[in-house]
Amino acid sequence: MIHHYDIIIIGSGAGGGTLAQALAHTSARILILERGDFIPREDENWNPEAVWKHLRYRIDERWLDEHGREFRPYTHYCVGGNTKFWGSVLYRLRREDFEAVQHSDGVSPAWPITYETLEPYYDRAERLYHVRGQHGVDPTEVPRGPYPYEAVPHAEAMEHIVSRLRTFGLHPSPLPLGLLRPGESDGCMLCNTCNSFPCKVGAKSDAEVCCVRHATAQPNVTLWTGAYARRLITDARGAKVEAVEVERNGETVRVDAPVVIVSCGAVNSAALLLRSASEAHPDGLANSSGLVGRRYMAHLATMMQGFHPFRRNETVFQKTVAINDYYLHGPDTTYPLGQIQSQGRTHGVMAQTVVPWIPLWAYESWVARGVDWLAISEDLPREDNRVTVTPDGRIRLQYRPNNLSAHERLVTEMKRILRRLGFWVVVAHSHKEKNTTHQCGTLCFGTDPRASVLDPFCRTHDVENLFVVDASFFPSSAAVNPGLTIAAQALRVADHITETHLS
Ligand SMILES: Cc1cc2nc3c(=O)[nH]c(=O)nc-3n(C[C@H](O)[C@H](O)[C@H](O)COP(=O)(O)OP(=O)(O)OC[C@H]3O[C@@H](n4cnc5c(N)ncnc54)[C@H](O)[C@@H]3O)c2cc1C
Ligand code: SF4
Repeated sequence: MIHHYDIIIIGSGAGGGTLAQALAHTSARILILERGDFIPREDENWNPEAVWKHLRYRIDERWLDEHGREFRPYTHYCVGGNTKFWGSVLYRLRREDFEAVQHSDGVSPAWPITYETLEPYYDRAERLYHVRGQHGVDPTEVPRGPYPYEAVPHAEAMEHIVSRLRTFGLHPSPLPLGLLRPGESDGCMLCNTCNSFPCKVGAKSDAEVCCVRHATAQPNVTLWTGAYARRLITDARGAKVEAVEVERNGETVRVDAPVVIVSCGAVNSAALLLRSASEAHPDGLANSSGLVGRRYMAHLATMMQGFHPFRRNETVFQKTVAINDYYLHGPDTTYPLGQIQSQGRTHGVMAQTVVPWIPLWAYESWVARGVDWLAISEDLPREDNRVTVTPDGRIRLQYRPNNLSAHERLVTEMKRILRRLGFWVVVAHSHKEKNTTHQCGTLCFGTDPRASVLDPFCRTHDVENLFVVDASFFPSSAAVNPGLTIAAQALRVADHITETHLS
């Protein structure tokens, strides 16, 4: 049996969920296909053991690395996608991120659009995701108006750190955060289990809460959960997608629509196009450039903890401070180094995943005296960093991080700052190439069909009714969290589809 709709959206995360919300007010009959289910509201949502030891919400799938070794990727399949687990740090890219920038390890390429193109959509995305911040403090801030909501105030100990950082000549600023009604009776409780945990009270600005729930309240929007899009099927010429083959409830069904939008996350979207190879597209759908799956990026990220044996850290909600002083260049180099953010509190169980034989009580006592930070640097698009699929359809991710010297300098600088702040010991840990949380770039957008997969409105150059709106479109990874940019571009694509396909 074939089911007919006007628009099919595959994936309900930052890209797909936002796009669904934006199109829901049209009269188009929309089907959202989501392979996962709703994350239940339950005690385990905020239980570090359930989330970090038993990996309760993480996918059980294994991907292959470049040596063919299996690993369990850090990603989630559910309504809302990875936004259910994000820290909700919602940044705009800096203006320079849209331009070609020389890094120590090569050039970060220009985007086919400017900051000004995306600015009105950033405004809308910030309202949609209830972003809280403070205008005029961050030295790298883009031209913009005030935030829609006031910044979350720093806890006392973090305020003290911010004051000390200013005396070092730095310019700390409040992290822009998407939180719903903090401090109100039905709102965010500013707890210590936010980043990497789902919100038990539904007060995190994620794609399910801010978008999918509103979209599916409309009679023209249907959501199928547990619906895995296996292949896209085109007409004989390969010019249009004619149907999506879906596995659902143990059956294979076909759905069709004049517009098909893929938003499965950067790895899975590339894999879906590669699995959809046909006579007309022997190397994978929309792959005339040969770039489908290539130029994978994921950021270089190091978690750091400053430890002081006699200073108990009483802060509950710690994730409020950003240091962007080294975003455009380092203290002793003209090359960009990246960004530093304070992080949510580390729990003993989380730390124990790094060295499991150290007893939990020792970790608990350690993290109770630590302040947590995250350093993020840009990695550059390289063609041999890529997603492929094996003949039996499994995902293979070949990724060698680059721009490492910039990241090492950023980490060294942050260690120096933490020692100046009086911490006795600084520990650092990175998941390195296995960190898939900020995956992007596998179907980059651009104006030249030979050098990009998508056009500037995220339509594939090769297939006229096929769009991709997840993080795949990023030509460069920048060094801020990607979510708000994915949402802003999804809103822009929604306007474009409304004008060109629904009028
Ligand atoms: C722990 C964690 C913390 C993070 N913190 C932040 C943060 O603070 N700020 C920030 O900006 N970003 C953060 N991120 C990254 C952010 O969540 C992602 O960049 C963003 O969610 C990516 O959006 P997307 O639309 O590309 O994919 P996703 O949000 O991953 O959505 C993809 C969806 O597609 C579905 N899907 C996949 N394949 C198929 C298929 N074949 N058929 C049907 N459905 C399919 C998946 O189930 C999923 O729901 C974090 C991520 C993690 C994991
Ligand atoms: S209550 Fe607030 S801080 Fe806690 S998980 Fe929910 S959104 Fe995050």
